[in-house]
Amino acid sequence: MSTVYNFNAGPSTLPKEVMSIAQNEFLNYDNLGYSIMEASHRSPEFQNVIDTAEGNIRKLLNISGDYSVLFLQGGASAQFSMIPMNFLEKGKTADYAQTGAWSEKAIKEAQRCGSVNIIASSKEKNHTYIPDIETWALSQNSAYLHITSNNTIFGTQFHQFPKPSPDAPLIADMSSDILSRKLNINDFGLIYAGAQKNLGPSGVTIVILNKNLLDRIPENLPAMLDYNTHIKSGSLYNTPPTFAIYMIMLTTNWIINHGGLDGIEQLNDEKAQALYDLIDTDDFFSCPVELGSRSKMNVCFRLPSEELENKFIASAKAEGMIGLKGHRSVGGIRASIYNAMPTEGVQSLTNLMVEFKKSHG
Ligand code: PMP
Repeated sequence: MSTVYNFNAGPSTLPKEVMSIAQNEFLNYDNLGYSIMEASHRSPEFQNVIDTAEGNIRKLLNISGDYSVLFLQGGASAQFSMIPMNFLEKGKTADYAQTGAWSEKAIKEAQRCGSVNIIASSKEKNHTYIPDIETWALSQNSAYLHITSNNTIFGTQFHQFPKPSPDAPLIADMSSDILSRKLNINDFGLIYAGAQKNLGPSGVTIVILNKNLLDRIPENLPAMLDYNTHIKSGSLYNTPPTFAIYMIMLTTNWIINHGGLDGIEQLNDEKAQALYDLIDTDDFFSCPVELGSRSKMNVCFRLPSEELENKFIASAKAEGMIGLKGHRSVGGIRASIYNAMPTEGVQSLTNLMVEFKKSHG
C-alpha cells in the first residue's frame, strides 16, 4: 500500500506508531485474552488506562492538583452549552471573542443561557485575523472570557492569551491545537477540546478545569451536564467512550516519547514555517490570514484561480495527499498539519506546490 498523507481537519491523521500498537493489541490487550474494547469500564484494566491517559495529560501540561481533568462525551459542541449552564451566573455577563464559525456556535449556545457580550470580533474581515487582545475591555460583571485558541476553518490562532481576572477566568476551546505547544495552564480557568485532531479518535472530549470554579455551579442542573457529577465519579458516572480514551492514552504516550510539548512544538513550528515560507515567496500562492495570526495547525492558502485550486487538489490526490480542500466558507486550500502529520507529509506537499507552480505559474 502506498503512503497516503491525510490533511483532513478532523477526524484526522493519527500517529502510525499509535495505530500499529492499537492493531497489535486489539484482540489481546495486555495478555488478558480479550480486547480493551470489550473490557468493563469498571475493571482495573480500564481504570489503569484512564488513569494513565489523565496522568499523561497532567504531565505534558504540568497540571497541578488544583485542576480536574475530565473525559466527557458530546464533543466540543456539548461544552458550548455546559460552560454557560455551569458558569454564567444570573446577573453576570459572559464575554466572548468572535473569531470564527466555532466561536459563533459557542456564542449562540451561551445566549440561550443568559447575557453575552461579544468583546471582540474579526467577522468584518471574514475572520482573517485575531483581534488585538490589548484592546479588549471585559464587561464589568464578567462571568468569564471565552476564546477559541485555534480557528480550524479560518486558519487563525492565538499566539498570546488575554489575562482576565480570577473573577472572570479565561475559558478556551482548544479543539484544534491542544497539546500542540507549551502552555501555562494556570492562565486558564477551563480548557476543552474534542479529541479528534491532536488527541485520538472522535467520541471523547477533554475538559481541564480549575476546581475553584465549582462553587459557581447552580443546583439542580441535569446530572450529565453538571461538571461536579463527572469530577465526583472520575469521568465514570456513566459508560465512557472506553476505546477512544485508550487511544488518547497511546497518543499521549507517543507525545511524551517525542520530546513532550517541547519536541512537538518545535516540529509543528518547522512544518508550518515550511509551508508559509513557500506561500510567501511570490504571489502564485497567497495566504488570506494576517501574519501574526496564522495557525500552525491549519494552513489556509489560495492559488490564482478556483480552477487552479481544483486542479491542485486533484494533483495532490493523485499523489496520495487527501483532505486539502478548504472549508466551503473560505474556499481555497487548507492543509491541516496536526501533531501526527509527519514532516515527510509536509515535504511531499511543498514538493507538489513547487512543481505545480513551475507548470502553471
Ligand atoms: N471547536 C473547534 C475549534 C472545532 O474545530 C470543532 C470541530 N471541528 C468544534 C469546536 C466542534 O467539535 P465537535 O464536533 O467535537 O463538537
